[in-house]
Amino acid sequence: MKLLVLRGDAIGPEIVSAALEVLTSVDALFGLDLQLEEAPVGLAALEQRGTTMPEGTLEKAFASSGVILGPQHNVAYPPADAGGRNISATIRKQLDLFANIRPSRGRPGVPALAPDIDLVIVRENTEGFYADRSMALGSGEFMPTEDVALAVRKITREGSRRIAEEACRIAASRSGRLAVVHKANVLSMTDGLFRDSAFAVAEEHGGLKVEEVLVDAMAALLVRTPNAYDVIVTTNMFGDILSDLTAELSGGLGLGPSINAGKDHAIAQAAHGAAPDIAGRDIANPSAMILSVAMLLDWLGLKHGREELRKAATSMDRAVDEQLADPDGRTPDLGGSLGTAAFGAGVAARLRRD
Ligand code: ATP
Repeated sequence: MKLLVLRGDAIGPEIVSAALEVLTSVDALFGLDLQLEEAPVGLAALEQRGTTMPEGTLEKAFASSGVILGPQHNVAYPPADAGGRNISATIRKQLDLFANIRPSRGRPGVPALAPDIDLVIVRENTEGFYADRSMALGSGEFMPTEDVALAVRKITREGSRRIAEEACRIAASRSGRLAVVHKANVLSMTDGLFRDSAFAVAEEHGGLKVEEVLVDAMAALLVRTPNAYDVIVTTNMFGDILSDLTAELSGGLGLGPSINAGKDHAIAQAAHGAAPDIAGRDIANPSAMILSVAMLLDWLGLKHGREELRKAATSMDRAVDEQLADPDGRTPDLGGSLGTAAFGAGVAARLRRD
């Protein structure tokens, strides 16, 4: 099984290295037979090849079973016509990765505002309020005059249905509770379409306990009673914002993993950004990246019916728990003093078969 590795920018190469140390160990332990291929992207590629996403990268992603992508420092990229292509957005769009799955779980012993939080945000990923995703041609953000700026938000029945399908599948595999989060009281057509489509899909599934919550109320409720929620399905930007909130509630941005998945492809991407303020100092927390890789293995295991991939993912998740439970096993963002690379080595050493 071939996986493509794209290290990204700032802390990207550091946290991806730590994740690869864990991945190569779990590969050997579970006999996964993974083949890792690397391709240069981001600011390093811009310097060497004049573009953040050199030709052939997309083809390599298509030809791989999965992609491991470090965060990108997008704001440091030049305009697209000067070589600054958004790698993540391009891959997500071309591979039609419509589901951004972002779990937040408190980790034993890790100081957190909501230590018992355990939920999954299922975020629509291909439309919504993102200027690069709403139009066939041109940008979804434009300025009719110098003093007026407009943005178009796209919501489709099909886009809403397929993300709801994914959320229902995940809810059925957990507690069966699903919250549909929207703002249909103000955006009655767009969010109304999203809500109605999600409820229609949930009804087809049956057996789920489905509720709707307005997004602003959800922000408050997640702080007040985070344990009341299990699976949350929502539109693109609401999901992006709420998942930063839930990651922080669970202990910090460095703990928030995610995968972007479609029907045939998936990429592992930490939910946080490239954190240039701490880059190159061996202090970034690689947990989110390691756990994202674990999520990718689990997704691949489910898709290809390969139980050992799922077991390897569980082993990685448990090893991260054990590493974080040790106060000396934590990176500075969690009050520890361990470096990024040592954290990866520590997690790799804790892997085991049961
Ligand atoms: P983006 O817009 O790309 O999501 P952002 O501006 O939201 O990026 P992040 O890069 O996600 O910002 O991070 C915000 C801050 O959180 C960083 O400046 C950093 O201090 C901290 N942070 C993020 N990820 C980590 C991590 N893995 N380990 C430690 N600290 C982190």
